[in-house]
Amino acid sequence: MGRMKITVLSGGVGGARFLRGLRDAVTADDEVTAVVNVGDDMWLTGLRITPDLDSIMYTLAGENDEERGWGRVGESERVSAELRAYGVGWPWFTLGDLDIGTHLTRTHLLREGLPLSEATARITSRWPLGVRLIPATDDEVETHVITDGGPMHFQEWWTRHRASIPALSFEYRGVAASTPAPGVLDAIAEADVVIVAPSNPVVSIGPILAIPGIREALASTPARVVGISPIIAGAVVRGMADACLAAIGVSTSADAVAVHYGARSRGGVLDGWLVDESDAAAAAAIEAAGIRAQVVPLWMRDAESSAALGRDALAAAR
Ligand code: GDP
Ligand code: CA
Repeated sequence: MGRMKITVLSGGVGGARFLRGLRDAVTADDEVTAVVNVGDDMWLTGLRITPDLDSIMYTLAGENDEERGWGRVGESERVSAELRAYGVGWPWFTLGDLDIGTHLTRTHLLREGLPLSEATARITSRWPLGVRLIPATDDEVETHVITDGGPMHFQEWWTRHRASIPALSFEYRGVAASTPAPGVLDAIAEADVVIVAPSNPVVSIGPILAIPGIREALASTPARVVGISPIIAGAVVRGMADACLAAIGVSTSADAVAVHYGARSRGGVLDGWLVDESDAAAAAAIEAAGIRAQVVPLWMRDAESSAALGRDALAAAR
């Protein structure tokens, strides 16, 4: 096998774990590109914050807090305490001091006139990540959650309310007028393999697929498109993605998520779908939907199991 181009559609934490494993599974000449969700992004206290890009960057750089599961290792929160004393920002949304350094850098570059994709390229060049990160779009597309009490930014619903307020629907604000960032469509069209990471289907992969042009690129790429279930044995592995799935009428099961994405041969996005061994019984329903099902271990417990999943995803796409 010569040099391979692999493009991954990804959200934050689940996507980051997968990308770290995939990086260990490929050889040095292979090229891995992550097309990253921007729906969680926001302006807060004058700073542009891009949680999914940062989760991936910190994880691939080995700078993430493994214990907490997000943010920088060795973090302190002095700046956030000051902001709280001034009564600005969101008291329930703490930004670490090191993390704020990233946001200051990004905001500086954006104010200089760089698009987010350029700012991301500059910021990520600090570390040898082994994966090229491209925001799915340079435009501001932010996920809002529609509730009985009105709409709120996804971060408020997720972090402040812990997804406990019933979501009626999700709105990707600004998406209709958005365009894919430079490099995104080429990364899909020229890929040998496209992988949909085990990320939240509604608020991580959903906003990427809603950007005009991306579904079309997936439909026409000669690469095979293989996804990995974020659902194992009828439950989300980490997080609260079940609350998002319920809102769009998709049950929390490996086969329901596959059917939601749909078969590429029938107007959807997937050729193949990886499910966990505990979901082997779901394979028939997935195949009936026109998607090739593969049963492999999907738990990314450590570096070895994550790399094994990376290898399995590549094998499924060949
Ligand atoms: P977020 O943006 O930080 O919410 O992260 P993602 O959207 O990329 O990923 C969240 C999803 O990752 C959740 O729905 C989890 O079920 C899934 N996930 C987390 N860890 C694992 C794992 O070890 N295996 C699999 N298959 N899915 C996982
Ligand atoms: Ca996210």
